[in-house]
Amino acid sequence: MVRVIQKDKEKLVFSAEIKESLANAIRRSALEIPILAIDDVEIYKNDSALYDEIIAHRLGLVPLKYDGDLELREDCSCKGEGCSKCSAQLKLQASGPGLVYSKELKGKTDVVYEGIPITLLRENQELELVATAVLGKGTEHAKFSPGLVYYRNLAEIEFKNCEACKECVEACPLGLIQLEGKKASVKDVWKCDMCEACVVACKKKGSGEISVKPSKEIVYFIESFGQIDAKEILSEAVKALKLNLKKVEKA
Ligand SMILES: [Zn+2]
Repeated sequence: MVRVIQKDKEKLVFSAEIKESLANAIRRSALEIPILAIDDVEIYKNDSALYDEIIAHRLGLVPLKYDGDLELREDCSCKGEGCSKCSAQLKLQASGPGLVYSKELKGKTDVVYEGIPITLLRENQELELVATAVLGKGTEHAKFSPGLVYYRNLAEIEFKNCEACKECVEACPLGLIQLEGKKASVKDVWKCDMCEACVVACKKKGSGEISVKPSKEIVYFIESFGQIDAKEILSEAVKALKLNLKKVEKA
């Protein structure tokens, strides 16, 4: 059974009884989704304090919007040389004084977040460059990854001989334990990362005991960097995994 805990464009959290090996395979497959990122920068003018290489590196990490009209460079008819079917050009022209932000990249595609600082220019300083964005996979470079995918076991928490001393309530760094009368319970148990602070606090006082164990259920977290929705990361990762399995089957 799959239980959706949180679902919006940026974040998807669900719990499911799936094997860890499968959960991990899906996590790794997220790095096989083609994502657009700046891969080549031609710098015409850079008066800023940052080296050209640092500027290029920062530009590579700026998430870009992608509407699916490009091909992977290795699959393109240009055979990897680079053409308008497999790359998108962006221009940046800025002059100081002031910070240069990602929104100043103008061209075939838009940036996801407009307020990422690139560099600082003083008066009379200029920055002028042309960047080329291509599709790539997270397996070749982290800038092509669509987001963060991670999981952990859902915690199974049990309170024994509880004396309602409130020690565990105060000890939980995430504030997940609540006391109703003399009964302790856990709200949003999926948030529990099994730090066992409550176990230690409980042991110090009285005869109560708390046990925290990993259950069979897995909580899955997908956080998008903004290029594609969190839901899409999951479905595309599953697609990539299936495609890889098909290749194995064929071989
Ligand atoms: Zn091409």
